[in-house]
Amino acid sequence: MVVVMAPEATESDIDNIVALVGAAGGEAFVSRGVNRTIVGLVGDSERFGALNLRGQRGVGDVVRISTPYKLVSRENHPERSTVRVGGVPIGPDTMTLIAGPCAVETPDQTLKAALMAKLRGGAFKPRTSPYAFQGLGEEGLRILAEVRAETGMPVVTEVVDARDVELVAQYADMLQIGTRNTQNFALLQAVGDAGKPVMIKRGMSGTIEEWLMSAEYVAQRGNLDIVLCERGIRTFEKATRNTLDISAVPVAQRLAHLPVIVDPSHSGGRRDLVLPLTRAAIAVGADGVIIDVHPHPETALCDGPQALVHDDLTELAALVRALPPVVGRALTPAAEPAAV
Ligand code: PEP
Ligand code: MN
Repeated sequence: MVVVMAPEATESDIDNIVALVGAAGGEAFVSRGVNRTIVGLVGDSERFGALNLRGQRGVGDVVRISTPYKLVSRENHPERSTVRVGGVPIGPDTMTLIAGPCAVETPDQTLKAALMAKLRGGAFKPRTSPYAFQGLGEEGLRILAEVRAETGMPVVTEVVDARDVELVAQYADMLQIGTRNTQNFALLQAVGDAGKPVMIKRGMSGTIEEWLMSAEYVAQRGNLDIVLCERGIRTFEKATRNTLDISAVPVAQRLAHLPVIVDPSHSGGRRDLVLPLTRAAIAVGADGVIIDVHPHPETALCDGPQALVHDDLTELAALVRALPPVVGRALTPAAEPAAV
């Protein structure tokens, strides 16, 4: 059950709901969104029924939610949400292009990649092999911050350990949870507390429901600024790195109110597939795409084979400008690449 507070509700109205629910033996989780505050209730709904929650001061609505995820469910929040990342909107009215190197390697490489597009870049890299490049850590974060200062681009970067969340949040505009950590619940709770938007990749062997439950962990800490990212799932097919589950985009958008973007780079794992998969993502109604780019992919320390070079990105950016209006999505300045 979820209590949706009215726009004019005060802090004491919210405290009143939390106290009533506590007195009835339940737990209340307060989530503050841009437009309104919602309170998720956990406990005996029969006892909550006796509280006359709908009649309490500052309450807009009380909704019974049938799905196991409550706060991110569209049953609770029928309009689709927009998340703002350093001033850039990601949501139903925009097609956002996020791009940058898989890993931050040097200041020069990061700046060149940033000048190719909006910025993503990993300082902490979760690698299947402990012998592979693990990222530059805090030095990588400092490079990202310098490049942000030079280009004005918001920074999306991954955090792989709950102990690093505070550090990464000092530098990043959006915290990324990678596919390998989608069910690291302590990490999800820590990023939920960090006060920054969070992007959650789908687990490579995770169901859509499990992905939404991961988002619920973040939402339960009071943070509803969550972006979901479909990045391909593991199937029997070996021709591609992962199989892009394109149907997950409209399914997740119907079940949750959160923006859903697609990562065509990690899905296909091949440069030649990035453009066709981006076309598919836009056509299916994704709210954005996140793309690996590199000034010299042949020397990349991570994921070079899937990184776009300058001319590829120019072509992709043209597609991101041209296709959204064809599928009924208004084009906004957020779709303009910073420099190509
Ligand atoms: C990445 O975006 O750099 C990354 C490691 O992605 P994923 O978690 O989807 O493999
Ligand atoms: Mn990568």
